[in-house]
Amino acid sequence: MNRSLNPNRIGTIHRLGVNMKIILSSPNLNEVAQLRNMLDRAGIACFMRNEVSAGLSPEIPLAEGLPELWIQADHDLAEALRIKAACQTVSPVGGANWVCPVCGETSEPQFTSCWKCGVNKT
Ligand SMILES: [Zn+2]
Repeated sequence: MNRSLNPNRIGTIHRLGVNMKIILSSPNLNEVAQLRNMLDRAGIACFMRNEVSAGLSPEIPLAEGLPELWIQADHDLAEALRIKAACQTVSPVGGANWVCPVCGETSEPQFTSCWKCGVNKT
């Protein structure tokens, strides 16, 4: 079982008596950091968790330590989600699905090789 999919990790935590909302959990630290910067610029109070544990070694399973981005105020949630959607729209990993020239399987744009046969995206 992939523990990173544990729904208990997504939701709210209590911190200093405040409900915190997680809006992003991703193995891609750059993605999390980019969104944090955008929220900062928008004046939305947010913080990252597990940013240190990520990236030390790609061999270490990150199920317990995926970088996470949390926002501090409920009333910022809608705006934060809007920024997140906009951020992901302009992300360089965006784009269309692509079809493997070898086996014909369709892969999502963020993958650089075929999920089925492993051939590199051309
Ligand atoms: Zn393939």
